Amino acid sequence: MGLSYVTPVVVNGENVAKLDKKEVDRATEEWQNALIVYVIGQNPSLMAITNYCKSQWAPKVEPKIFKHDEGYFVVKMDTAKDRDAVLYSGPHLFFGKAMIVKQWTSSFSFNQEILKVVPIWVTFPNLPLNCWSTDSLSRIGSTIGVPIYADECTTKQLRISFARILIEMDVTGTIQEEINVEDPNRRVFKQKVGYAWLPPFCAKCQKIGHVCEEKKKPTKGRIIQKWVPVGQAKDISSSNPRQELDEEGAWKLVTRKTKDKEKQGTFQTAKTAVMYELQSGGGSSAAGAGGAKGPNPYLS
Ligand SMILES: [Zn+2]
Repeated sequence: MGLSYVTPVVVNGENVAKLDKKEVDRATEEWQNALIVYVIGQNPSLMAITNYCKSQWAPKVEPKIFKHDEGYFVVKMDTAKDRDAVLYSGPHLFFGKAMIVKQWTSSFSFNQEILKVVPIWVTFPNLPLNCWSTDSLSRIGSTIGVPIYADECTTKQLRISFARILIEMDVTGTIQEEINVEDPNRRVFKQKVGYAWLPPFCAKCQKIGHVCEEKKKPTKGRIIQKWVPVGQAKDISSSNPRQELDEEGAWKLVTRKTKDKEKQGTFQTAKTAVMYELQSGGGSSAAGAGGAKGPNPYLS
């Protein structure tokens, strides 16, 4: 398209491009049925998402789909009905991976930041039945975010064991497991809150989708290392070159810090004794290769 020069407005000595409201509104309308789609922990191709949309969502008119460099997609639906059908039918899975689907808004910026606030299906188990009106559910949902939608079973009260609401919430903040509700008689009761799933959030990178392992902090306490079965490993050494061995279902090296000998002693169980044999015997290369350098606290 051909462009032309429009004199900028000068504000505080700086040029400002002042946009025309009509033009922006027109473009906003064009994108109002668009969805932001993001697969957590995966970077699917445009083709994969296109096929997924076709087979899973099957909108009446095929959507236009765009991929952003940061790994998320804009799926431009033809109608609001098609958009909402997808938005309200979650949670969505993409080949077993959780998928965030949220409505595009004019304030949406193509930045990972925005994905901190995502729609999450939230349940309120045993919510008193007189609290299920649109107004009450809106007020209850607003304690943890911006309520968007109540599912069909909640709306029609087809199921009464829990109310289920889609709430756009900041997943990087504190996740509340209980909220306070005050009834018209000023009686305040605690209401439990359940979450269908919550995306992993990395406090270090301030991004969802992964959790960076904590860097070893300098500490006055002693560093304890031990081998544990893969499923039990929590704090896994990043410099462990035994990844292949680990993935075969053997052992991972975990590092723990402890301030007192008492705690250290509790690790010395019959189970760990077997691990020393693995480490010092056949698995001696494992002990020498990774983060297991230095004296073994269990052998002293
Ligand atoms: Zn991180």
